[in-house]
Amino acid sequence: MTPVLRQQELDAQAAEAPTYSIVIPLYNEAENVEPLYRELKPVLEHLGAPYEVIFVDDGSQDGTYEVLLALHREDPTVHLVRLSRNFGQTAALAAGFDFAHGAIIIAMDGDLHHDPQDIPRLLETLQQGYDIVSGWRKDRPDDFLTRRLPSRIANWIMARLSGVPLRDFGSTFKAYRREIIKNIRLYGELHRFIPALASLVGARIAEIPVRARPRYRGQSKYGLSRTIRVLLDFITIKFLLSYMTRPLHFFGPVGLLALASGVLLGGYLTLKKFLYGISLLQRHGPLLLLSMLLIITGVQLISIGLIGEIIMRTYYESQRKPIYTIREIRSRREARASPTDSKGA
Ligand code: UDP
Ligand code: MG
Repeated sequence: MTPVLRQQELDAQAAEAPTYSIVIPLYNEAENVEPLYRELKPVLEHLGAPYEVIFVDDGSQDGTYEVLLALHREDPTVHLVRLSRNFGQTAALAAGFDFAHGAIIIAMDGDLHHDPQDIPRLLETLQQGYDIVSGWRKDRPDDFLTRRLPSRIANWIMARLSGVPLRDFGSTFKAYRREIIKNIRLYGELHRFIPALASLVGARIAEIPVRARPRYRGQSKYGLSRTIRVLLDFITIKFLLSYMTRPLHFFGPVGLLALASGVLLGGYLTLKKFLYGISLLQRHGPLLLLSMLLIITGVQLISIGLIGEIIMRTYYESQRKPIYTIREIRSRREARASPTDSKGA
C-alpha cells in the first residue's frame, strides 16, 4: 500500500471518528442499563457533536448482554464490547478505552451512580484547557464506616504521596482527552491511579463536584476490602511515579549503606582479632553475624537495583517507548523542506 493511500485512509477514519466516546463498564447491571441509557441519550443529543456509547459487558451472568443487544439493534451509536469472563472494572474500562474513537473520552459507572446531567459540566471544564476532569462525589450516599471514612483516609494519603491534589481518587466519572488515556493505558492496571499516572506524562488535571446518587438497583461489587487493596496498589504506583526509569536509585542507596557499614564493622572485628588475638565467634558472635548480614543484604539490594535497570530498559526499548512525552512541537523544519509553505510559519 502506498503512503498516500494510507494517509487517505487515516483521514477517512478521522472524519468518521466521533467527538465524544462514553465508556461504561457493566457487571450484572441488567436492571440498570436501560434506565441509564434513557437518561444518557438526551444529554448526549444535546451536546451537539457526534458521539458513541461504548458499553463493556464484563462477563455478566444476569442477562445484561441481552439488554445491551436490544439497545445496539435500535441505536447505531451504541457499541458493545463483551469480555469473555469477569475481568474487573479496570480491565473493562481499559477495553472500552481501547475501542473508543472519540477525541474526548468519558467514563462512568453503569449503575446510575453518576448523573449523566453532569457530563456537560465535565466537558466545559475540559475545554478550559485540561487533559483530565475528574468528578468529585461531594455528598456520597454510601455507608460512612465501611466506605466513606476509609476512602477519605486513602484519598488523603494518595494526594499527599502522588502530589496530585484530588479529593476523590476513587471516582470513575471522568472526562479525558484521547491522547492522555491512550498514553497511560500502557502503564496502568489501575483506573483509580490514572490521574497520578497522567501527572507523570504532564497532564493538566481538574476536579469538579458531581452528584453522587445511590446505585439504582442491584448490589455494589465492592466493600471494605477494596480500600486495603487500593492502598497496597498505591505502593506500586508511588514506586513507578518516582523510580520507574531509575530503579537503582531506589535500591542503591540503602544497598550501599548496608554494604559499607557491613564492611566497616567486619574490618573493625578483623582488626581486633589480629591485634588482640581474641576469638570473634566467642566474644563478638552477634556482631560478626550482623556484619555478614549487612554485606549480603547490601550486595543483594544493589543487584536488585541493577536487575531493575535491565528490566526497565527492556520495557522501554522493546516498545520503542521514549522516556518523555511531548505536548507540542513547533519547528520550522518542514517549512524549510518545502519553501512554498514557509511564508506563514
Ligand atoms: N464493574 C465491572 N466489573 C466488575 C465490578 C464492577 O464492570 O468486576 C462495574 C459495575 O457494573 C459498575 C462499575 O463497575 O458499572 C462500578 O461498580 P460498583 O457500582 O459496584 O462500585 P461502587 O460504585 O460501589 O464503587
Ligand atoms: Mg456504584
